[in-house]
Amino acid sequence: MTEQQRKKLLDELLAKQKAGTLKPADRYAIPPQEMPAQDGVVRRGNVSEVATGYTQTQARLEAMRCLQCKTAPCVAGCPVGIRIKDFIVEIANGNFGAALDIIRENSLLPAVCGRVCPQEVQCQLPCTVGKKFKDVDKAVSIGRLERFVADWAESKHSESTPAVAAETKKKVAIIGSGPGGIVVAADVRRAGHDVTVFEAFHKTGGVMVYGIPEFRLPKKIVKQEIETLEKMGVKIVCNYIVGRTKTIRQLFEEDGFDAVYIGVGAGLPMFMSIDGEHLVGVYSANEYLTRANLMRAYDFGKGADTPIAQSKRVAVFGGGNVAMDSARTAVRLGAEKVYLVYRRSEKEMPARVEEVHHAKEEGVEFLLLQNPKRILGDDDGRVRAVECLKYELGEPDDSGRRRPVPIQGSEFEIEVDTAIVAIGNGCNPLIGQTTPDLEMNKWGNIIVDEKCKTSIEGVYAGGDIVLGAATVILAMGQGRTAAAAINEYLETK
Ligand SMILES: Cc1cc2nc3c(=O)[nH]c(=O)nc-3n(C[C@H](O)[C@H](O)[C@H](O)COP(=O)(O)OP(=O)(O)OC[C@H]3O[C@@H](n4cnc5c(N)ncnc54)[C@H](O)[C@@H]3O)c2cc1C
Repeated sequence: MTEQQRKKLLDELLAKQKAGTLKPADRYAIPPQEMPAQDGVVRRGNVSEVATGYTQTQARLEAMRCLQCKTAPCVAGCPVGIRIKDFIVEIANGNFGAALDIIRENSLLPAVCGRVCPQEVQCQLPCTVGKKFKDVDKAVSIGRLERFVADWAESKHSESTPAVAAETKKKVAIIGSGPGGIVVAADVRRAGHDVTVFEAFHKTGGVMVYGIPEFRLPKKIVKQEIETLEKMGVKIVCNYIVGRTKTIRQLFEEDGFDAVYIGVGAGLPMFMSIDGEHLVGVYSANEYLTRANLMRAYDFGKGADTPIAQSKRVAVFGGGNVAMDSARTAVRLGAEKVYLVYRRSEKEMPARVEEVHHAKEEGVEFLLLQNPKRILGDDDGRVRAVECLKYELGEPDDSGRRRPVPIQGSEFEIEVDTAIVAIGNGCNPLIGQTTPDLEMNKWGNIIVDEKCKTSIEGVYAGGDIVLGAATVILAMGQGRTAAAAINEYLETK
């Protein structure tokens, strides 16, 4: 459909709406609006964002597809309960600012969530339109609409700095500047408290900056959120590792903080415990992506001095978003062949469908129902190949997914110079080791109550360190809960 045809269709629909003759059948007949994107071959050579965003006409047409169901099943599918149908109707009517205001009631980071939330298993899954077509891909594209209004506001420079209440002189320390930490910082600062964010890295933003690549989430979006915090008067201290630079107890006793939020994420990479993981050329996905994202390997050497090997043949192990991000980053860093090795079938892959689709378009080769048995090195201790085993699917396991069963004797080799392990992340034990009395479970996750309060008075926690490796929106949701509890605690303290 051309933009002109879209405009014509939108005018016809709006005329019918005005006349009160717009029927659900008219809405079903609107073609789902495809997200414009960079060509798959072109984008192998750059790190610019893949999806370029809806035009205004596309956004309004997509919004017109929403049936405005009374029961709004989409809201039940949103972890933070955004009033989805209300913001969508504003978009349909061209009131983009009003739409953003509605989203912002529940989500502080719409430009981020519109891009990276797994909508296909959240708000879009129960969408009535998708159900009618028996295809979740045909559900109303709620995430794209959320992104559209956030980008629209950005282009109009219509974002204003949230108001801050009178200073209370109460001090709150936030450990970690990921999505959870950002939300807590904003909500607690709004109540007039003195907020300092301590971040271990030299850059803020957590996984949104060091993990998720530029081509999926441009860094300038997160930078703007951090700048907004600074304009609100939040202090940001980088290169500060709580547990090493100072402990939580020292923050209370020496620095006079009244409350602490722990939002340190789950940044401890897991390995496979197979032979050859010590070889030169084996990376954890965390290390690989951090080097690429924070040391500007994505700039292709223009002013970047990054110690990432110039890989030509890469194998990535895993089937989640982290594996997709690693494989797609390797493509952009110049690898000629990138394999994604996953032990189940594509159906069981935890990665977002869109990421899988984009990875394939960019030439990543999927080796499904296969898993590495060992990594083989050359005489210099560098990776030269991976020995894999073939698998078949057996009975479902505890996760409900069919268990992969190795086929004995099916070993084969793939020649690679780099192997990236992307099979998941655990919790960094540092905070637990240096904070006596902080209750944690056997996996190292901090235990909290429904208000995100930990076992220590005045200490709250949320995001991946509580939930295990989860999602941006869940970290944000817990940040909201924790901030409300901190504000309540400081009011009564
Ligand atoms: C590669 C990758 C891709 C992902 N893709 C998606 C996606 O598409 N959609 C989605 O919803 N989710 C995705 N996720 C998951 C999502 O990013 C996380 O769930 C989310 O960022 C967790 O937020 P958080 O606030 O708990 O902490 P994080 O974002 O993990 O941030 C924690 C911060 O704390 C800092 N820190 C750690 N220890 C200390 C310390 N001792 N002192 C001071 N600072 C410390 C860290 O440096 C970090 O900056 C992805 C994750 C990865 C790794």
